[in-house]
Amino acid sequence: MDFRGIILRRRTIAFALLMGVGATDVVAFDVPTPPHRPTSSKNESAPEAKPPANGQPQAETAPGEDCTAKLRGAGVDFETTQTPPGDLDGCAIDGPVRLAAVMVDKRRVALNAKPVLSCAFALQFSDFVKNLLAPLGFGAMGASLVAIETGSGYECRGRNHDSEAKLSAHAKGLALDVGAFVFSDGRKIGIDSQPDPQSTVYVKALRTAACGWFTTVLGPGSDPFHATHLHFDIERHGSNDAYRICQ
Ligand SMILES: [Zn+2]
Repeated sequence: MDFRGIILRRRTIAFALLMGVGATDVVAFDVPTPPHRPTSSKNESAPEAKPPANGQPQAETAPGEDCTAKLRGAGVDFETTQTPPGDLDGCAIDGPVRLAAVMVDKRRVALNAKPVLSCAFALQFSDFVKNLLAPLGFGAMGASLVAIETGSGYECRGRNHDSEAKLSAHAKGLALDVGAFVFSDGRKIGIDSQPDPQSTVYVKALRTAACGWFTTVLGPGSDPFHATHLHFDIERHGSNDAYRICQ
């Protein structure tokens, strides 16, 4: 992430924490400064052509190799995998990985469902865990985030489970559904129900701040399909990834 991205995130987090924005408010807008752009989404995966150094041929980099190297460098626990079979045309993942855990200050934040995701999404989600979910969780809850309950990530299906609709971002491994967070003191914070007021503040704040990492954030109040979980994805809505749908 560049410096401007950091500023944007800090502003977003501060906004979420201090203003307590209603999570059900429709806040689709143009973000003035896009945060870290996914490194290997479909439109960006072509390597930049560069002349060989000193006239010597350079080793070719396989597609996705740069992204998985970044995941390893970030201390993320994952393994590369294949796109699972699906019934609809177009279901495919660019650089599929199975995400097991994100390391935050040598502490493991486990994704026990081990969702299958595009490497670009895994990289973005890992950054979200490391720089928002874990530190905000510690500040709000006074305990460490130890696990995130998620869906499977990849699903070959149309939007809102309608096979006639446009393919869901899940069908490209560009989305993840989150149902709950588990903390080191044993508290489990559901998206649809929280055990105490600080948990509610945590969920509202992370939902608002998530718009700095993802192009789409949906949850309870958005529509009946998202009543029990938060949906995060990095699918583009326009010519670039600056346009956000955060409801
Ligand atoms: Zn979803």
